[in-house]
Amino acid sequence: MRNTLYIVPVHHPRLENLELLKQALSEVFSLHVEFLNLELDIEAVFNIRRHQYHSTEILAYLLDRMPDDTERILAVTDLDLYIPILTFVFGEAQLRGRAAVVSCHRLKNEFYGIPADNDILMDRLIKEAVHELGHTYGLIHCTNYACVMHASTYVEEIDIKDYHFCPACQALLAGTEPRQP
Ligand SMILES: [Zn+2]
Ligand SMILES: [Zn+2]
Repeated sequence: MRNTLYIVPVHHPRLENLELLKQALSEVFSLHVEFLNLELDIEAVFNIRRHQYHSTEILAYLLDRMPDDTERILAVTDLDLYIPILTFVFGEAQLRGRAAVVSCHRLKNEFYGIPADNDILMDRLIKEAVHELGHTYGLIHCTNYACVMHASTYVEEIDIKDYHFCPACQALLAGTEPRQP
């Protein structure tokens, strides 16, 4: 039976933060959440010209190795992620799929030359994780700026949104059947 959301740490995200993320995701999605360690070779997804890591290749890796009871699988990383058409991404997900990835790299104040604040980092990480998992349930970007499915290019846009779905997105989510294998 597919009923577990797996969180896969990739390249040293802080473990106490992952525990908070686990609690938040189990509340938002009403899923059983577990940690899963996979030996992802980060050099294999590194782009030497960009000095970034290709998020789509991380998704492919997760899909290859997910356990049979996987409802969704989410990698959480410190690596700076990209897809070829964009300079960076906070995360990526398969639309109506099972795999997603989020990065803390550009969610940290330090990246912008501002003093570190772990509460702010956690707030952003939870929102981006919920956002990417929302895509796996078929949700697209929402025009409501307070909705977690609002698109965010800058951390300021993450900070003004909530980590919940707006009523319209929540209704879509509630009506979404899990994708068949
Ligand atoms: Zn999105
Ligand atoms: Zn919405």
